[in-house]
Amino acid sequence: MDIILLLLCLAGAGHAHGDEGAPSKSTQPAKPLERIAPAAIRRHVEYLASPMLEGRGTPRGKQLAAEYIRRRFEELRLQPLFGAAGYFQEIPGAKTDEGQTSVMGRNIGACLPGSDPKLKDELIILSAHYDHLGVRRGKIYPGADDNAGSVAMMLEVARKFVESDVKPARTLVFLSCDLEENLLWGSRWFVAHPPRPLGQVKLFVTAEMIGRTLGDLPLGAIFVLGSEHGTGLKQVVDGVTTPAELKVAHLGIDLIGTRSDYGPFWNEKVPFLFFSGGEHPDYHQPTDTADRLDYMRAAHVSQLIFDVCQQVANVVEPPSWNDKPVHGLDEVRTLHRITELLLASDDAARTRGQAKLSNLQRFTVSNVHTRTAQMIERGEVRADERPWLIRSSQILLLTVF
Ligand SMILES: [Zn+2]
Repeated sequence: MDIILLLLCLAGAGHAHGDEGAPSKSTQPAKPLERIAPAAIRRHVEYLASPMLEGRGTPRGKQLAAEYIRRRFEELRLQPLFGAAGYFQEIPGAKTDEGQTSVMGRNIGACLPGSDPKLKDELIILSAHYDHLGVRRGKIYPGADDNAGSVAMMLEVARKFVESDVKPARTLVFLSCDLEENLLWGSRWFVAHPPRPLGQVKLFVTAEMIGRTLGDLPLGAIFVLGSEHGTGLKQVVDGVTTPAELKVAHLGIDLIGTRSDYGPFWNEKVPFLFFSGGEHPDYHQPTDTADRLDYMRAAHVSQLIFDVCQQVANVVEPPSWNDKPVHGLDEVRTLHRITELLLASDDAARTRGQAKLSNLQRFTVSNVHTRTAQMIERGEVRADERPWLIRSSQILLLTVF
């Protein structure tokens, strides 16, 4: 995860869509399904982030987490993803001195077969990594937001699919990768050893840190990255009705690069979506505890992800890879808003005699502010300006925050 998301969160990027109390979507079955409940998300997080699980980084803690997820899959009567091996995919480590191969970690996967005989060989994968940092210098790192919250999301989305009267046409795969915190080793192993051909995967969805907002600011932005690489994905996401307090903000994935389990799928040109709220002060700290999550927010994001998966699972034309995405003005507006807020907060600090930005920082920020204003006025970003945009985001990150 990246501090750029903090910037974007500061800016209140994106747009709200949907109205408070809007009726449920017309595509839903006759018997209206209840929305995913905050209490259901909380139950999973409180267990997965409890001290007993030792930050899901020790062998014992990871074992308990993996068993928990497998039991939920079994209760939902989802099929094991890895054939004879069941719900677990072992990730081998280095050979021992005796020539034995050690087990470094385990991915956990299950599937809900599609109901359409013609489409059931096409897969939508919903994933959330379950490992975290474990115990370091005697301190447990519970990883409640990173990433117990998203595992809870995945489990509740799975339940909703199972309990729905209308089964998805395509097959849904629920995947909890291990070793994300070790250079994405779990998802890399999965992509290198897929249980079914990767060409069958029409969409890969993953999420990180959906229960907090960056900087703990009272902003409801959920960042959605990657939609620019899959045909029709942005329209699907924007077509979902969300509560007024949850604002969807699309961002190009190149603004943050590879930060999570979508990376290996991106390399293989599998269309993907990454949902994240971004970093907060407790990110990768022992203080990332279950009591600090906003469960209503996590439930809203879970519902959004369910709706997106359901639509893509049933849509006639699934997303295909788009190598040359067109970026709109959303990101420019976001950057502009960020710099506006930065300059305003520096102005306020200077009137109190304590500048927030150095002169060089102020120059950089002002420059971005001015150039983004020009792009907005012109109504387009020229092709040669996008590399500048990416670089500017990174300079802002590195020098200002
Ligand atoms: Zn993570």
